[in-house]
Amino acid sequence: MVVGADGSVPLPWLEAPLRRALAQQRSHALLVQAPHGVGTLEFMLKLAQAWLCEVADGPRPCGHCESCRLVRSRTHPDLLVLLPEALRVALNWSASVDDSGDGGKSKRKPSRQIRIDEVRAAIDWVVQTSSRGRAKVMVMHPAESMNLQSASAMLKTLEEPPGQARLLLGTADAAHLLPTLRSRCQRIALAAPADSLACRWLEEQGVGDAPILLAAAGGAPLGAMALAARGIDGAAWLRLPQAVAQGQAAAFAGWTVPQVVDGLQKICHDAMVLAADGTPRYFPIQVLPEGARMPHLSAWARSLGRVARHDEHPWNEALLVEAMVSEGRTCWQEATHRSTAGRRPLDTLAR
Ligand SMILES: [Zn+2]
Repeated sequence: MVVGADGSVPLPWLEAPLRRALAQQRSHALLVQAPHGVGTLEFMLKLAQAWLCEVADGPRPCGHCESCRLVRSRTHPDLLVLLPEALRVALNWSASVDDSGDGGKSKRKPSRQIRIDEVRAAIDWVVQTSSRGRAKVMVMHPAESMNLQSASAMLKTLEEPPGQARLLLGTADAAHLLPTLRSRCQRIALAAPADSLACRWLEEQGVGDAPILLAAAGGAPLGAMALAARGIDGAAWLRLPQAVAQGQAAAFAGWTVPQVVDGLQKICHDAMVLAADGTPRYFPIQVLPEGARMPHLSAWARSLGRVARHDEHPWNEALLVEAMVSEGRTCWQEATHRSTAGRRPLDTLAR
């Protein structure tokens, strides 16, 4: 069965795609595309485990052989998992498997990029002979965390993978990848499970308010699970639109800037959809304050997009959150009460 990246929780919606991928695989380089929170990394790891599994017959991966045990303990000599350092830290993934660069031992902030030296080391690793004789599998996720230089270095290996090599690249948005990189891979698209299956799974994991949190995560079960792990319950989520309309930045206390931006973008998205008489996606219609004005929402959406694109946030984070919420509030203010005098445009903060 397909399990979470921590190796413990089964992810049932990935079983059928896994069987299909094993039956239909025709290329040695696969590009796996799925929305955030669906389980791209988990899927690739399970596919890698199946390719490396040493059971004589029966379905792969067997889960019991020495190879399967090594994959689970993240010590298989023929499996290289290439993740940006920041993701490795977030997943508590030790660098033991792919500690071929500088190992990330320096004290700098964890990188969000897969660095060129890591990619070069991976390319060198891939051409070596398989230790256990079945295959050599490199898993890279997310592929868009390679910069142009790294992606270019990877092209040749993708085009002609050495004999036993198999390459698995994960992405949430293939449009962000080099077209030449995309065209060298067989594509596999994973979809979020049906809401009913996802909710049942979340409840089995002990997540309360599953339908609310699942909608909050755009239908991605692992995203909903992550919200719950941050201590956000249904009531806290449902309060957010009203809090923003009232300018209450305190509603986001304890959230990181990227988490706040994500939450505000969802409020902004749903307010825009509501203003256009559509069906909101992340919040029930009842908790969205009415009367937001489209021009202000559009300006707010652009501001939030600019903040989202800035990877690092050198300015005061509390001030930034306050400014983002404050701009959100103006979308709901009556024109007669509206004043720009006390407003700090986000633009001036984001520079
Ligand atoms: Zn096995």
